Amino acid sequence: MSEVNCIFCKIMRGELPSHRVCESERTVSFLDLFPAALGHTLIVTRDHYENIYEIPPEVLAEIATESHRVAGAQREALRPEGLGVYQLNGAPAGQTVFHYHMHLIPRMPGQGLELHGRKEASSEELSGIAAKIAAKLPST
Ligand SMILES: [Zn+2]
Repeated sequence: MSEVNCIFCKIMRGELPSHRVCESERTVSFLDLFPAALGHTLIVTRDHYENIYEIPPEVLAEIATESHRVAGAQREALRPEGLGVYQLNGAPAGQTVFHYHMHLIPRMPGQGLELHGRKEASSEELSGIAAKIAAKLPST
């Protein structure tokens, strides 16, 4: 998919809204619009790389650092009993937006292991959760 029509590139350009948790030099973390669970957060590169084969290693390292920060904040804010960290490459692996991103999905016992929810979350709900997670981020 070209960068012009890419939904994550549109979010990065400010053409679509997002509920941001935090940002770093080369990444933005925001809540999934169709959460598989409460607090489902995506860590997305500012620049368009389709997958793990295209992303430069230094950007991948920044994704890892951000995932560590966000995971800690999710744990403080939401107290999940588990956390799924997923990164998918190519349609057969389940990738649906072809712009590199990592899913951080807080998990509770008895819930499924879906990666995408069926229902779009409300803007009010998402902004409340984003603020709750952001409040627990370690200061940098
Ligand atoms: Zn993109």
